[in-house]
Amino acid sequence: MGHAAANLEARAWIEVDLGALEANWLFLQAQAKGEVIPVLKAEAYGHGALPLARFLFSRGARRVAVATVGEGRALRRGGVEGEVLLLGSLHPLEAEEALRWDLVPSLSTLEGARALAERARALGLTPRAHLKVDTGMNRVGFPWEEAREALRAVEAMGVRVEGVYTHLATAGEEAAFVEVQRGRFQRVREALGEGYFYHLENSHGLLLHGGENVRVGLALYGLIPGFGLKPILRLLARPTLVKRLKAGDRVGYGGEYLAQGGEWLLTLPVGYADGLPRGAVRFVKGPGGRLCPVAGRISMDQTTVLAPGPVPLEAVFEVASPDFGPTGLLAWAEARGTIPYEVAVHLSRRLPRVYRYGEEVRDVLD
Ligand SMILES: *Cc1c(COP(=O)(O)O)cnc(C)c1O
Repeated sequence: MGHAAANLEARAWIEVDLGALEANWLFLQAQAKGEVIPVLKAEAYGHGALPLARFLFSRGARRVAVATVGEGRALRRGGVEGEVLLLGSLHPLEAEEALRWDLVPSLSTLEGARALAERARALGLTPRAHLKVDTGMNRVGFPWEEAREALRAVEAMGVRVEGVYTHLATAGEEAAFVEVQRGRFQRVREALGEGYFYHLENSHGLLLHGGENVRVGLALYGLIPGFGLKPILRLLARPTLVKRLKAGDRVGYGGEYLAQGGEWLLTLPVGYADGLPRGAVRFVKGPGGRLCPVAGRISMDQTTVLAPGPVPLEAVFEVASPDFGPTGLLAWAEARGTIPYEVAVHLSRRLPRVYRYGEEVRDVLD
């Protein structure tokens, strides 16, 4: 992480608004009856995990969750000391790394538990874990009917089970099955008893059904409309070329845009390698918030747009805006026929990221 000023001179970058993150965080904490675990996997859905982990721990997070040992290691190397939960199912081959970096894995298999216990003994460390229980998704987790036996077996190996959780398959899609899964998890809880940290809902689960201890990703990034949450990310770019087209000029690969003549065209130095989904980014916002249509195909590193008039190369265009309008990530996802998670995680690491809290630049990732 370097320092701020250089990046503000960049030709293309991502800005993350930590004030907006804080507002979402406070809102979600008010919704949940218990603990909110920020889910920071996949670089915090493209927003950058390390600066967000630092900020959320400073705002009272008790732990954060990531998906892989590598993601956990990156947080540790960045100086994060708080608890880091690994989601998914620990592979036996990863047990040693998880222990060395003091990451708390999720167990779905006895093989994983055994490897964790054995490696911990060899290293002289305490094996800690959360037990993942499958209540109907059939992806990872011990079958809910066998949770008690699984817990006994894992504890008998010497693993300290601190938490127990399950994951909803249909939150935001099918309320009846959410209730089926919640009912099963409640029975697990009764069978295992108190003394464990039980956590259940994801973003849609919490927002639509309420929850006690929850793991939240998408809502924290504000990418769910209708609840007062606000997206926290903007993708900004300055033009590298501004020109006027003549009648009959064609633009970009395939010559797809055909000029009438007299249009102002400008080239922004971001393309599908930066995470702009081809065919799905239709507009960018120009100075003054004016919508500028994309003209022709998006290339790997560049995108051509029509501007209402000539602009200097210093002008800043909002390629992705923190709202639910035609230049927001949700519009990209919709036009692409996919979910906002997918477009967010594809925002490229090659774009520098600037983290602002009000006017103050708190962090820069480049
Ligand atoms: C990704 C993930 C979450 C967060 O889901 P959102 O829909 O982004 O809130 C919660 N729990 C688990 C197990 C996950 O893998």
